[in-house]
Amino acid sequence: MNLHEYQGKEILASFGVRIQRGMVAHNAQEAVEVAKRLTQETGSEWHVIKAQVHAGGRGKGGGVKIAKNLEEVEQIAGQIIGMDLVTPQTPPEGKRVHQVLIAEDVYYPGDNEPEEYYMSVLLNRATGRNMIMYSTEGGMDIEEVAEKTPHLIFNEEIDPTIGLMPFQARKVAFNLGLSGMAFKEMTKFVTSLYKAYVESDSNLFEINPVLKTSDDKIMAVDAKVSIDDNALYRRPAYAEMRDLREESAIEVEAREVGLNYVDLEGNVGCMVNGAGLAMATMDLIKMAGGEPANFLDVGGTADAKRVEEAFRIILKDPAVKAILVNIFGGIVRCDRVAQGIVDAYKNMGDSIKVPIIVRLQGTNAEMAKEIIDNSGLAVHSAVQFQEAADKVKEVLA
Ligand code: GDP
Ligand code: MN
Repeated sequence: MNLHEYQGKEILASFGVRIQRGMVAHNAQEAVEVAKRLTQETGSEWHVIKAQVHAGGRGKGGGVKIAKNLEEVEQIAGQIIGMDLVTPQTPPEGKRVHQVLIAEDVYYPGDNEPEEYYMSVLLNRATGRNMIMYSTEGGMDIEEVAEKTPHLIFNEEIDPTIGLMPFQARKVAFNLGLSGMAFKEMTKFVTSLYKAYVESDSNLFEINPVLKTSDDKIMAVDAKVSIDDNALYRRPAYAEMRDLREESAIEVEAREVGLNYVDLEGNVGCMVNGAGLAMATMDLIKMAGGEPANFLDVGGTADAKRVEEAFRIILKDPAVKAILVNIFGGIVRCDRVAQGIVDAYKNMGDSIKVPIIVRLQGTNAEMAKEIIDNSGLAVHSAVQFQEAADKVKEVLA
């Protein structure tokens, strides 16, 4: 589950990570009130107005702007709230901004120039260990840094049985070229950041930029935080941070009825039981010349009601040109599923306008094929995997 910047920063701060302070506003008047309060608390006369949407690159798209007085706060907040912000990470039509973060200006002048670094904490799946990725080249596109100057990106892997060792935090500060007070600040920053990552059950922290202020403080100016969905049951406070407006409407609906659904780009909808079979089915669709429109695992209880719900979800995607149902009857009996498909089809009447290919294998598979073939509906049945693939090819042709 992805969070907004302001929510990610709240979590970081609760673990003692220094952040650029700020408050959320939903309209221009509130922005002015919030900016006044923030000035009292931080002493900062200038403010940064930051669009809160689930997408990076906001700065480039005009979603991050500096305000030098309260009139500018009002004007800029009014302009950003309600806009459809387009960045390299949003859909082409952009994302509607419902709220902004009013933050203290932390790029104030001083003895040194402010400097921007990159830092993320994530799981290295190849080694099964958490790692801290960091670079002196912060503030910009880290993908570009990785491509053009990969030697400027460092990795620090953490042994899960020991945790982050003090020497590792010092190594990070050293590799970033820090000394004196900034060095100490960085080791503190890294240590609390890693603790926050582990104890919040996150699967991604990306802090870009981490800022060294002109007076050598180290802080998070941006925060991309993603919490592990499977841990939300024990993190109710974080679960409440979910913003449904930021998520795919179809995925939200699927989650509500308990279906494991991921929206994809292709034209063949699929309904499968079991995640492994679902992956294999997506491969099969590709080999037949189609592209899967979704990943959908209906789980173990593929009864008529569930099958109907799954059909409804799949058909919400206008790109779907055919549906492939691939169910293995281990615990569920295939004849039950077949009856479920026939019932769902009849219940939904006119709303199914695309061909359906059904492959049922396992307990009572032959009986299931008979039910489908005798139903008089425009459903193609298949017993073998290859047969199903051929039929997908046929209906797409
Ligand atoms: P992103 O573009 O979505 O990654 O948003 P960020 O939160 O990273 O902000 C983008 C850029 O805004 C940063 O890289 C900074 O250069 C700039 N910025 C953020 N906070 C401040 C601030 O307090 N003062 C000034 N002058 N610039 C800031
Ligand atoms: Mn950023």
